[in-house]
Amino acid sequence: MISTVPSGNTRYKGRVISGFYHDPQGKKQAFCRSGPKNGTSILAKTMSERAYFDWNATSPLREEARQAMGAALALTGNASSIHAEGRAARRHIEQAREELARLVGAESKNVTFTSGATEANALALTPVIETGGRREPRDRLFVSAIEHPSVLSGGRFEPAQVEVLPVTSDGVVDLDALRLALPRSERPLVSVMLANNESGVVQPVAEIAGIVHESGGVLHVDAAQGPGRIACDIGAVGADLMSVSSHKLGGPQGVGALVRRGDVHVGSPLVRGGGQERGLRPGTENVAGIAGFGAAAAAARLSNPQELAVLRDQFELRLKSLTPQVLIFGETAARLPNTSLFTVPGLKAETAIIAFDLNGVAVSSGSACSSGKVQASHVLAAMGVEPAIARGAVRVSLGWSTTEAEVDALLTAWNKVVSSLLNKRANAA
Ligand code: PMP
Repeated sequence: MISTVPSGNTRYKGRVISGFYHDPQGKKQAFCRSGPKNGTSILAKTMSERAYFDWNATSPLREEARQAMGAALALTGNASSIHAEGRAARRHIEQAREELARLVGAESKNVTFTSGATEANALALTPVIETGGRREPRDRLFVSAIEHPSVLSGGRFEPAQVEVLPVTSDGVVDLDALRLALPRSERPLVSVMLANNESGVVQPVAEIAGIVHESGGVLHVDAAQGPGRIACDIGAVGADLMSVSSHKLGGPQGVGALVRRGDVHVGSPLVRGGGQERGLRPGTENVAGIAGFGAAAAAARLSNPQELAVLRDQFELRLKSLTPQVLIFGETAARLPNTSLFTVPGLKAETAIIAFDLNGVAVSSGSACSSGKVQASHVLAAMGVEPAIARGAVRVSLGWSTTEAEVDALLTAWNKVVSSLLNKRANAA
């Protein structure tokens, strides 16, 4: 319940759409809403006129995926049935498995479809992991401080078994801390993401794999933000287990996969049931979703990330020339070619996002706005960014259909956001 709305709120047509309230314990909480009470759009522009810069949250569905899903939806069979209808459904799943395996350089038998990267992460993070045919429980889980909540939560490990590793101010996992931490475990499991969803910072996973394997550990890599943007070959990455998400690469939402390599196996499923996905993921398969994922994976393999890097770099150059005081997080580290996380001192992300939205531009905050609440970014906190600065972080993420004209619209909207901030400051002075 919103009990108080003190200063700092934003209104649209008289209705507060972002601001603060006090929870029942009297703690001040921030909130944001995407639209007016009746659920209709607050946006003056139609969807086709809008510029979408939130590809790290989800990407548009690729046409190839839409078609593959349509074909799969037209089928009747259960993929476990042995009749012709069942075999037809099975073919769609196995073709998708081949495509995904090709995208990440794995063997198709090592791909387990799940409901997304969240479930793939939860499946991977278990003490019950077999290596070399032996089932010796992993005694400790090491995760970096910038992981997705599905990894930070520790999966099926007891909280006391989970250790969080620091990152540098650039947002890169601290390798010295990893080297010091691993001897505290006899059989460690380590989970580090390929690239961070907020900052775009790419982690030195091949180097991490060397350190982990030297100490007898197993490495899980959350590669949700990687495919189509950076190389994701599981062998080159050095991962034993790797999570992938369909909707970040142009497939439908609600599908993902856990991929394994070598003699490492997850020893127990998350839920018990039938024998689907070699017993690791029971339940009748989401054939249309998996078919869409496979088609998107095939298209992602052919994408050209270099084009994204050119557009993003041009954007950042123009951003700096418009606003010399801009701070770009993780700028000196290797980053995904499509991501830029930035702020100017004094900016409030939720206010900025709503202003962008009203100008027809979809961007995101560095912090998550889930269930209508703005939460502080654990990623920026781990990078040592002051909370007041972190609260202003705006994330822009591009994709294969982003155009220069959309980047122009983004910068025009940014100019308005910053001018209004500077005017307010000048009036207050
Ligand atoms: N890991 C990372 C790094 C992500 O960015 C996301 C999606 N925000 C996930 C995991 C979860 O993926 P999914 O939505 O497929 O569950």
